[in-house]
Amino acid sequence: MQSRDLWRLGTLMLLGLAVGLTVGAASWGLLAGALVYISIVHRDLAHLLKWLRNRKTYSAPERSGIVEDLSLEIDYLRERHKKRKKKLSAYLRQFRKATRALPDATVVLDNQDEVRWANDAARAVLGVKWPTDAGQRVTNLFREPRLRKFMQERATSRSDTIEIESPIDSERQLSVVTAPYGSNQRLLVARDVTQMYRANQTRRDFVANVSHELRTPLTVIRGYLENLIDRGDECPPGWELALEQMSSHATRMSNLVEELLLLSRLESETAVREPERVDVAGMLTEIHAQARALSGDKEHLFSLEAASDIHLNGARAELFSAFSNLVFNAVHFSPPRSVISIRWYRDKDGAHFAVEDKGIGIGEEHIARLCERFYRVDPSRLRANGVGGTGLGLAIVKHVLAHHQASLSITSTIGSGSRFSADFPPAQIYASEAAGSQSRRDAG
Ligand code: ADP
Repeated sequence: MQSRDLWRLGTLMLLGLAVGLTVGAASWGLLAGALVYISIVHRDLAHLLKWLRNRKTYSAPERSGIVEDLSLEIDYLRERHKKRKKKLSAYLRQFRKATRALPDATVVLDNQDEVRWANDAARAVLGVKWPTDAGQRVTNLFREPRLRKFMQERATSRSDTIEIESPIDSERQLSVVTAPYGSNQRLLVARDVTQMYRANQTRRDFVANVSHELRTPLTVIRGYLENLIDRGDECPPGWELALEQMSSHATRMSNLVEELLLLSRLESETAVREPERVDVAGMLTEIHAQARALSGDKEHLFSLEAASDIHLNGARAELFSAFSNLVFNAVHFSPPRSVISIRWYRDKDGAHFAVEDKGIGIGEEHIARLCERFYRVDPSRLRANGVGGTGLGLAIVKHVLAHHQASLSITSTIGSGSRFSADFPPAQIYASEAAGSQSRRDAG
């Protein structure tokens, strides 16, 4: 209690006591003093309430002890709140201005995928108009089927992106990403990547053109070299080794050119153009035979287990190239007479082609980069061992699998071996008329 209140209460009680004593009723006098004090406080509180409700008409309570202090405290808090609100509004204005000016289209979606907010670029890039499209479901606004599917699948990982033509201008390429936030809300960001797309296109065309131009001269050179090797006895002494080396390098260059051409063809398409039914088990028997020939003196111990009733919907030549690449790599990178197991099977996640070897293995740090073109773990060692691959094999595998909506998973331990698995979703499996799972098992 404030001193002013104490003084007031004291005075009123004394006054009440004095009056009470004079009339011979001291306690009634005290009670009357207390009641007067209570009514004064009540009046001040009523004033405070009126002032709080209508500050323009009423002034703040004055000279009323604790009630006056209360009004001062309320005033101070109000001022502080006002300043904070002003500051926050300024921040919000700044933030809105910045997001509106963002060159990337940004759309805020609620848990029903309805538009909550969009910036100016969203209109120009995606055709989402704010505020006209407020509350519209985003999948109803996009006509592009791939984008609709992408949005419907509700990607949960931030790294999930899709590249599409702009729905507004087919000359522009967009990279679209969604980022989840809050309680099941999402942010949709679309970036114009036309420049990068064109640069990539130019690079792809350049590689394809150069490879194409090199093809014919290399064929001619190889032809002449083979001719010269066949007529080795007519060549000057000492030329034999040179001719052999020239021929092996020309063959390597030729393989490189063929793989570059295959890669640029794979890159130019996003899916298999004319899918056919592929008998994977039959194909693996062929690959197995080729791998045994490649193994030669190394006499690897192959184990082949393939379910003959699981067929794929895809491109046979592409799948042959990818699967043989994985098997031939196992041959190249594992020691003589070690076991190489090849499996083709199905489970609840789809169909899987797995190659497991007991070879040199791959360090953890290399695994993420293995599918980059020309990436080799130890190129000098490969050359020394005469295993001079092109370094394009796994890049081709990756593209082939992407065409078939499949993915490659790699697990490996240095010195113990590696496992490469191509995982196909159930949708990619050709609906088979054969019931039950028959397995073809070969060994040797
Ligand atoms: P390459 O033509 O060199 O075989 P790839 O793209 O097929 O090219 O493979 C890239 C690199 O990955 C290889 O050079 C090798 O270092 C590593 N690699 C691939 N498969 C295996 C394997 N089964 N065991 C160990 N290393 C492997």
